[in-house]
Amino acid sequence: MNPWRQLLEVQALDTSLTQLDHREAQLPARAELAAVEDQLAALRAEVVAAEAEKHVIDKDQTRIEDEIASIEDKIASADRQLYSGSSDVKELQALQDEIAALKRRISALEDQELELMEQVEPIDQRLAGLAERRAALDEQAVSLTAGIAEAEADIDRERAEVRSRRDEATAGIDPAALEEYEAVRGRLGGVAVARLEHGSCGACHMKLSAVEHDRILHLGPDEPVRCEDCGRFLVRD
Ligand SMILES: [Zn+2]
Repeated sequence: MNPWRQLLEVQALDTSLTQLDHREAQLPARAELAAVEDQLAALRAEVVAAEAEKHVIDKDQTRIEDEIASIEDKIASADRQLYSGSSDVKELQALQDEIAALKRRISALEDQELELMEQVEPIDQRLAGLAERRAALDEQAVSLTAGIAEAEADIDRERAEVRSRRDEATAGIDPAALEEYEAVRGRLGGVAVARLEHGSCGACHMKLSAVEHDRILHLGPDEPVRCEDCGRFLVRD
């Protein structure tokens, strides 16, 4: 018998499989996840920039603290000399002047350090805000990923069901016809066979010429018929 009638059913199942592939590739959650991942990447770049800014300030702060420590050593040493029992008034005065000058220097450095700490504060606030946004986006990404996995599992189940129906539908079809079906499908956008509907091709929708339509009507029921226009096989009722 004409295998194209059976292949029309196979065609419907193959079209379902194509639609399932398309649905899987085009899951809205996938685009949403990509958008969230873009936002996370931008956020990470912001974090890196803020941390670099903070690092520069931290280094300045360390440098100032080291300088203060070294000045404190100098003060301690001058203090020791001051109380070493010397009675040279000039020398003692010079030491006192030096200590006073060193203390002024420390005070200036401490002011600088305070300024740096004030600069760090808004950066820390920015980092805290970024961490908060990142946590929210991470949460969104996790939930979208779970949603995608669930949708994929649903699609896989549907696909397995359609495939098993396809196996049943292809059983008993002449392998040569099946091969031709696959070849035409490969050439013509996945559709090899369509129904002849009111004298038109169900795939490309071109109306058959009156002569061709008349010819078809007089063919035996098992004679294969092809659309004059797209070349697909046509199944008539
Ligand atoms: Zn056609």
